[in-house]
Amino acid sequence: MEHTNHMVLEVESRSCNEGLARIAVAAFCTQLNPTLEEVADVKTAVSEAITNCIVHAYEKETDIIRIQCWRRKKELIVAVEDKGKGMEDVKKAMEPLFTTMPQQDRCGMGFAFMEAFMDEVQVESALGKGTTVTMKKIIGRQNAVSE
Ligand code: ATP
Ligand code: MG
Repeated sequence: MEHTNHMVLEVESRSCNEGLARIAVAAFCTQLNPTLEEVADVKTAVSEAITNCIVHAYEKETDIIRIQCWRRKKELIVAVEDKGKGMEDVKKAMEPLFTTMPQQDRCGMGFAFMEAFMDEVQVESALGKGTTVTMKKIIGRQNAVSE
């Protein structure tokens, strides 16, 4: 399906940029006339994906995180891409409570939140090459019911 808008944002993997990217995606999202709850859901999911790039993909290095948003009618698609260390077993990494950093107070709930707050979450990853998390959400479902 054709998209009706597209945004690309590249930021360095610094924690200050997590908030920046989250707000940029929320701003893009406003074209879809979302409820406050939908905006909050998208912000939470994006925040988890970007935090993962900072703490897992790049760890002590600083490198580029590429965030893209597309609008397809009522659907928002967000892709968060890093060129970091990648994951050996994506299915396992996505299990609730699975974390490779328990000693650093990580609770392994990032992917579970992304899945809870978005309609669809797809993860492509290759060891040593990087990871792309693509999330989709239909915005304005409540409006659709009354239309
Ligand atoms: P929390 O998000 O609750 O702080 P967490 O980050 O460990 O903890 P998830 O976000 O669910 O939990 O991620 C699970 C695991 O998947 C991580 O511990 C890490 O090993 C791996 N992972 C997630 N994102 C990436 C990424 N972009 N690159 C490499 N590994 C990743
Ligand atoms: Mg996480």
